[in-house]
Amino acid sequence: MANEILYSIGETPLKDLINAKDADKNSSYFCPDCKQPFILRKGLKKRPHFAHKSISPNCTPESALHYGFKTLLHNKIQHHLDQNLPLNIHWKCAICNDIHKGNLLKKATQVRLEHDLGICCPDIALLDKDGKVIAVIEVIVTHKPSESTIEYYTKNKITPVLYILNSDQDVDRLNHDDLKPDRVDLCTTHPKCPKCNHYKQKKQLIIVDASCWKCHSPMKVVAVQSNMHMDLNSLSTDEIQIANDNGCFLKKQYSNIEKASYVANTCKKCNRFIGEHYLFSDYISDPDLDRQLIDIGFSCPDCDTNPKLQKSSPEYTSASSFANSILKRMGM
Ligand SMILES: [Zn+2]
Ligand SMILES: [Zn+2]
Ligand SMILES: [Zn+2]
Ligand SMILES: [Zn+2]
Repeated sequence: MANEILYSIGETPLKDLINAKDADKNSSYFCPDCKQPFILRKGLKKRPHFAHKSISPNCTPESALHYGFKTLLHNKIQHHLDQNLPLNIHWKCAICNDIHKGNLLKKATQVRLEHDLGICCPDIALLDKDGKVIAVIEVIVTHKPSESTIEYYTKNKITPVLYILNSDQDVDRLNHDDLKPDRVDLCTTHPKCPKCNHYKQKKQLIIVDASCWKCHSPMKVVAVQSNMHMDLNSLSTDEIQIANDNGCFLKKQYSNIEKASYVANTCKKCNRFIGEHYLFSDYISDPDLDRQLIDIGFSCPDCDTNPKLQKSSPEYTSASSFANSILKRMGM
């Protein structure tokens, strides 16, 4: 089984950690987690690993892997700090989907194992010169940090770095010069919302090549794409200008049905406009229409929601799911 977790890390009598493939039969080793004696197994069927000499009921390969990985990672970081070396880190950003790179030790001057923060105790904490925790590394084998822990990190401007381990062979990930964790909640391109401290999301215009429902003249139709529904009324004058510079015609219109005026896509030829109700269903969600996306800035999913539309309203759900399904189909 590829994903079977074996005891692959042992401790020497001098408390050094060693990988089973580098261990030799004539030395003695102990379990890094429960400290009981290990025997080395180098057979043909399985990769080299250790086993307890006698049953150790409270020890699991998962807990030993967790302990071994975080200790080796801590030692690697400590070594870089001692030598004054940068430690490069790469991650695929969950916020913007780009690959970001940086030096994990740009501001860090100390590293601590199991640093007690009161509400939580991260596996590894990085502290700056003033003793403030600036980043934490969580090694996840079975237990994920809770939502409230992640929220605590966000509020206190602590960057969480997560390693998610599925096999004892994940220890080999520490052999590379650079760190490649599975998740880092840090985006170097998106701004943070000053109100809630979460990252803002990209706000884009989706423009489709359609035709007027009345006179059938070609017509560019625009909607706002963000991870929440924002209608055209949320656009600033400058943003409306961007749409209109790209061939759209947004104009304030009065709806007799809704007894209100709103910004709507208007036909340049016959001056008829597309009601809010039909914008997603008849235009934006039509997969056959050619489209372009234009970045117009950032918005916060929690603080910049259009107050007219509640998140639970059917219009909200249909509009955002339409937009999301379209983007999925386009592979975005
Ligand atoms: Zn053990
Ligand atoms: Zn990013
Ligand atoms: Zn916010
Ligand atoms: Zn028309």
